[in-house]
Amino acid sequence: MIRPKTAAERAARLNAILAGLDEMYPQAACALLHNNPWELLVATILSAQCTDKRVNAVTTALFAKYPTPADFAAVRPEVLALDIRSTGFFNNKAKSIVGAAKKVIADFGGRVPRTMEEMLTIPGAARKTANVVLGTGYGLAFGVVVDTHVQRISRRLDLTKQTDPVKIEQDLVRIIPQGGWILFSHQVILHGRALCVARNPKCTECKINSLCYAKDKTA
Ligand code: SF4
Repeated sequence: MIRPKTAAERAARLNAILAGLDEMYPQAACALLHNNPWELLVATILSAQCTDKRVNAVTTALFAKYPTPADFAAVRPEVLALDIRSTGFFNNKAKSIVGAAKKVIADFGGRVPRTMEEMLTIPGAARKTANVVLGTGYGLAFGVVVDTHVQRISRRLDLTKQTDPVKIEQDLVRIIPQGGWILFSHQVILHGRALCVARNPKCTECKINSLCYAKDKTA
């Protein structure tokens, strides 16, 4: 494919990419099971280096055992670690979750805050986690979730040349309309799992193939 040269050509290509993602993943949504922003925050902390499926297998029983932030704040991290062992990195995750619960209670009246600035004061919540919780939990678009799939696919699609997630996010929010930030992340994460996988992407099945000039395209 010929690379776009002008701003208008780049904008047209981006619109076509977004339309292709809409066509492939019209119902894209967060795969982490949750009933409220607090549960989503816990699930997102647990999802680091772990599949959503495994997190969901743990959280059903976890949220029944600890129904509120106060319940998490009252447990010792080494005890909580036993409940979340199968998600990996359980000692650090347990410390983050108990710390987050204490912070939410001490500073935010027991409710997960609704701004990026406040979210970033919570233990275990860097920008990616904060964007997940604000976007999916509250429907507030402060940025784009940049996980490993969004990093890889944004580069493959030449939407960024950066490797640092914060800089990738800055590039994405500059070119994607704010109303599309939340859905874009969900769609690209699904695309990364279904077709645009790290090795040997399934390009023959990809509806944005004609717009992609990634070096590691397979078709
Ligand atoms: S054509 Fe291949 S590399 Fe490009 S976005 Fe589609 S699956 Fe990914």
